[in-house]
Amino acid sequence: MPAIAEALRDIRSTLPQGVELVAVSKFHPAEAIAEAYQAGQRAFGESRIQELLVKIPALPEDIRWHFIGHLQTNKVRQLVATRRIALIESIDSERLLRLVDAESERAGIVSKVLMQVHVAREETKFGFLPEELLDFFRNRGFETLKATHICGLMGMASNTDDTARIEADFKAIADLRKEILDICPDLRGFDTLSMGMSHDYPIAIKAGANLVRVGTAIFGDRF
Ligand SMILES: *Cc1c(COP(=O)(O)O)cnc(C)c1O
Repeated sequence: MPAIAEALRDIRSTLPQGVELVAVSKFHPAEAIAEAYQAGQRAFGESRIQELLVKIPALPEDIRWHFIGHLQTNKVRQLVATRRIALIESIDSERLLRLVDAESERAGIVSKVLMQVHVAREETKFGFLPEELLDFFRNRGFETLKATHICGLMGMASNTDDTARIEADFKAIADLRKEILDICPDLRGFDTLSMGMSHDYPIAIKAGANLVRVGTAIFGDRF
């Protein structure tokens, strides 16, 4: 069995029912994605627009593309205009959210997004602080969106070998989702909890992740 298919089979065998696997294919060629596709994988994660614009037309139309990288405001129109993004996981500011909404309305589509939360100590500088996100929902900032649906949260744990620290980070994100639902019990479809990468996805699943983003463990190292 080819290496990618074998890795996918091994990972899938460990995923509980209801946990979706996004294969993070950034920096890997279309051939690698095609190999994963042959093995049944349909959801792929990319972090750069230019790379996506090349890969989308080169690969099957039933692939569900997830955008997981930092999205620059001047790239939003290009991303939305592909009309092929199943989920933008990395909304890290209200300004970006409003821009995605405006461009989605303009394109005549509804974009699904996740709000990226920053809880990790150093891993990324991007994402809402928990308190900022709570304020957004207290102010019911979602009500004025015209063409965007907020489907949940995405976050990363600290980049460390300290399992207790990783568990605490994932728990903080899962708890934040519950707190938001307490504040806005009428929020619909706020179900997705995207947490966990190659080295920590089993911990994320224990903390309640229902979407994991795994790259290296499927495709090998990125160069
Ligand atoms: C690159 C990336 C991943 C995948 O990381 P691996 O360690 O290769 O599994 C997951 N999530 C985000 C946001 C990423 O940028």
